Amino acid sequence: MVAAAAGLQIAQGQEQVPRSADHHLPNETEPVPSNVGLEKQNPSSVWAPETDAGGQPPFKYSFSLSHKRLEAGGWTRQVTVRDLPISKKMAGVEMRLITGGIRELHWHVGAEWALMLYGSARITAVDQQGRSHISDVKEGDLWIFPGGIPHSIQGLGPDGCRFLLVFDDGNFNEFETFLLTDWLAHTPPEVLAKNFNVPESTFAQVPKKELFIFERPLPRSLEEEKRDVEAGTGAVPNSFDFRPGEMKPTKVSKGGEVKIVDRKLWPATNIAAAIVTLKPGGLRELHWHPNEDEWQYYVKGKGRMTVFAAGGRARTMDFQEGDVGYIDKSVPHYIENMGDTDLVFIEVFPTPYYEDISLAQWLAHTPSRLVSQHIAVGEEMLQKMAKKEAIVVPE
Ligand code: MN
Ligand code: MN
Repeated sequence: MVAAAAGLQIAQGQEQVPRSADHHLPNETEPVPSNVGLEKQNPSSVWAPETDAGGQPPFKYSFSLSHKRLEAGGWTRQVTVRDLPISKKMAGVEMRLITGGIRELHWHVGAEWALMLYGSARITAVDQQGRSHISDVKEGDLWIFPGGIPHSIQGLGPDGCRFLLVFDDGNFNEFETFLLTDWLAHTPPEVLAKNFNVPESTFAQVPKKELFIFERPLPRSLEEEKRDVEAGTGAVPNSFDFRPGEMKPTKVSKGGEVKIVDRKLWPATNIAAAIVTLKPGGLRELHWHPNEDEWQYYVKGKGRMTVFAAGGRARTMDFQEGDVGYIDKSVPHYIENMGDTDLVFIEVFPTPYYEDISLAQWLAHTPSRLVSQHIAVGEEMLQKMAKKEAIVVPE
């Protein structure tokens, strides 16, 4: 009936769903109130491309939906497998520290990979051999704290910092890490006295409750603290921080650029990442990752991603600032800039080395007759294809 109203001819066995650009057809209308704001941000869910099918479970969650824990020294919130069930191997945390705000000395089972998004911080860590890392990180810088390595973060002036943390454990919980104060508060004082060979009274002021994120005066100069912490054992052999601002992009094209940061460039990391900028109209080309799952964070701009899940299933979702995306290992996808500003996002993988397979590169290195026998595009088009991976298109 609806098709008839739209003036469409229906051939037997090929029933078409009527669609209109402005969604005015009877089968497209919404006669009762809906969440207009949310739907406007998610046009690919409300008006999915016709190629979508099967409606696989969501692979997107927004930090804006996460509970924000507010403390005197800043705030934090997280997206884990408990929020986004597909994200079994990785979780993320957003954190804001004010000037002097300290994320308490702590550690956790999984590794922590970080991207500084605003401002600057002093980070500290100590490895298995007592060797230390201490440095000041600013916007655009990364750090890695391998699993089990104790560390801290303190916001510096003039306005503290804001950063993203990614963990190679989907079940990670930022609110249940191993905290220095929490541990000491749960150790008998006589044991502490014996451990450090000092009187029990030394520990009378240890907080009874965790500090977690708290405010204190700024640290001493980096030079002074470096001398102090490196005494006797020296610094970690491979720096725990990395500055992508000082590297050349791995690939630049008309559509944007990508920086791939993995163990090849940064020996300390066991988490690989790609920092991608797509210009308006740019496309992160059709590809997949044969070695690991991908955790995404959208820094700025607007984009859409279609994930093809085999068995005729495909789903497109929209992403913008603060959104998390997740794609299982070897599952193909693309990301397209849908806005009129740059789209910046990061791809993070719980493995030391970045790997991908590009659809275009695969087809360019498969006999053109064989490929054309499948998709009927003609051998000429296939023979003209670039032999090297583009990563971002147009080239
Ligand atoms: Mn941590
Ligand atoms: Mn990818």
